[in-house]
Order: sequence, then C-alpha cells, then structure tokens
Amino acid sequence: MSAKHLNEIIKAIQKANTILVVTHVFPDADALGSQLGLSNILEGMGKKVFRYSEEPVSYLYNFLPDCEKLICELPDLSQVDCAIVLDCGDRFRLGKALDALLTIHPMIVVDHHAGHKEFGDLRWVQSGRASTGDMVYELTKALIAEISLEAAYCLYAAIVADTGSFKYSSTTATTFTIAGALVARGVNPEQVATKLFDNFTESRLHLLQTVLSTLELYADGKLAMITATQQMFEQCGAGPDDAESFINYPRSLTSVKVAVFLKEKEGSIGVSMRSKGNQYDVAEVARKLGGGGHRNAAGCKFRNGETLAEVRDQIFALLLPMVEG
Ligand code: 5GP
Ligand code: MN
Repeated sequence: MSAKHLNEIIKAIQKANTILVVTHVFPDADALGSQLGLSNILEGMGKKVFRYSEEPVSYLYNFLPDCEKLICELPDLSQVDCAIVLDCGDRFRLGKALDALLTIHPMIVVDHHAGHKEFGDLRWVQSGRASTGDMVYELTKALIAEISLEAAYCLYAAIVADTGSFKYSSTTATTFTIAGALVARGVNPEQVATKLFDNFTESRLHLLQTVLSTLELYADGKLAMITATQQMFEQCGAGPDDAESFINYPRSLTSVKVAVFLKEKEGSIGVSMRSKGNQYDVAEVARKLGGGGHRNAAGCKFRNGETLAEVRDQIFALLLPMVEG
C-alpha cells in the first residue's frame, strides 16, 4: 500500500478516542458500506464513533448492518478528536455540514475517485482502486484491527456495488483477494447480491418500464440516453431512490460506448454517465459540467433551473463529438 500519509493516518486513528465517520451526500452502497464497516471496526477497537449522514438511509441500503446507528444531526464537535471522510472526491459533496466538518482536525480522507480534489489533513487516495470498501479493508489490516461479520458484510457490499459485481475494469486480483477474505470471514455472497440487486418494489419496476421507453440512440448506437421526468416518478408512485442504477440498462446494449441518464427532480436535473473500456473518459465530461467521478462512471447536477432540453443540448455538445470522433 503506497500512501504518503498512511502511517500518519494509522497513528491518528490509534490516538483518537472519538471519531466522526462521514461520506458523500446521497451515499451509494460503497459510501455507506465503507462508512458503516469502518465505524463498526473502530468501535471494535474501543473508539467512540459517530456515523453522520445528512439524509436518512435510503430504503435501498437499509439492509446494511448498523445503518440504524446513522445520525442526521452533527454531534458536539468539541468532543470529536478526528474525522474520517470516505469515498468523497470533492469537499463540496460533503453537503450542508461541510463548513462544520472542515473545523475538525485531523481530517482523514480515504478515496478512490479519479480527479480527486484534495482536501483534509491526511489523505490516502488511489484512483485505480475498485472501491473505497476494499481500501477500508486494507486500512483495517494496517491497523491490525478485527473485522466483525457485520463489518465484513458492509465492506463486501461496498465492493460488489462499486465493481458492478466484479464486472468493471477497476476489478483486479486484489479486489478478488479482498472479497475472498470477506467471504472467508463469513459473508454470504448470494445474500448480499439479493439485497443489492433483487430488491425492486412494484413502483420501481413500473418506473423502469416507463424510463426504458425513453431510450434514444445516436452515433450508430454508440451513445444512449434515457430520461426520467418528475411526472414519471409521480405517475409510478416512485421516489428519487427508485431510479438508482437504471443507467446500467442503456449501458448493457452491445453497441453502446457511452450511456447517459437524465433524472429530473424538483429544482435540479441529475446526470449519470457511464462508458465502457478505456476510450471514453466520462469523468472529464462531468468535470466540464461542474461534476466529477471516475473514467467509466461519472455525474453532475444542474441546479440553475435549466430545462431537460437545455441539459440534453449541453451533454450532446460534449458527448457527440467524442463518440463520433
Ligand atoms: P452516479 O451516476 O452513480 O450517480 O455517479 C457515478 C459517479 O459519479 C459517482 O461515484 C461519483 O463519483 C460521481 N458523481 C455523480 N454525481 C456527481 C456530482 O454531482 N459531483 C461530483 N463531483 N461527482 C459526481
Ligand atoms: Mn466508491
């Protein structure tokens, strides 16, 4: 493990009695699995731990052990010795508590986002890593700490989710070695996969049916777009979480190199982008639009009252020359 700050990170964790563990807003399974897994491990080391999250946990992830321990209010920060920020490539993804969180020192950052924008006091950032969950596993080993079954379950879920079930190009032998160790610890892969992927409500499936009917293909099928309007959510009785992972459907087309999902919410439009292989860097496109992410999975948000048509035009202006070029 190569990290300029890793030894200092270990010392800082060992020294701290009370630790605040946080991740990015609208956390996905890697974010939450890493946050809950590491928190459980730190408690096993005798630390007092606060797991802060701006929003209550999404129903999609409330199967993760210890999710009931998440708190939506910041604790009294004068009693916090150290903050650990997981899976967050940009301080602005820390949400409303950003200013308060930045007053905590040391702030330790563990992340795997390409184009990570440095923040915090002690950083371990490896953009080649498949998930933050597998980095937390390695950190735990470096701390010589015990991994409970609950923590193993959280970290395994994080890895499976961020690798698309070990399908994405970020998956390496190390990913499998770590996942294997977590299964050896007692995690049941079938159980985690069922909770992560076979978890649809009827309204979610109905929403998927509606959103898939918006599929548009361009550039000989290399570019795909799907759209979820606010009206579709309402018609299907679906919530914003229900469209999670829909981007994988246009991505699954053989011809598709880049897939885009536009999601309309009250007051904003979320953009998810995916690409396959090495040729197309969607993180770079997302960065041009004020967002970020990884080479093959990135996103951004439009918050200034742009219409779906305007967002679409901006995205196409960047993506069409890329896939046609
Ligand atoms: P998703 O499409 O699943 O929402 O996001 C894919 C990846 O893009 C995430 O892992 C995250 O790194 C990045 N991402 C999504 N939305 C934003 C955003 O608004 N800002 C930044 N900086 N990154 C984002
Ligand atoms: Mn991640």
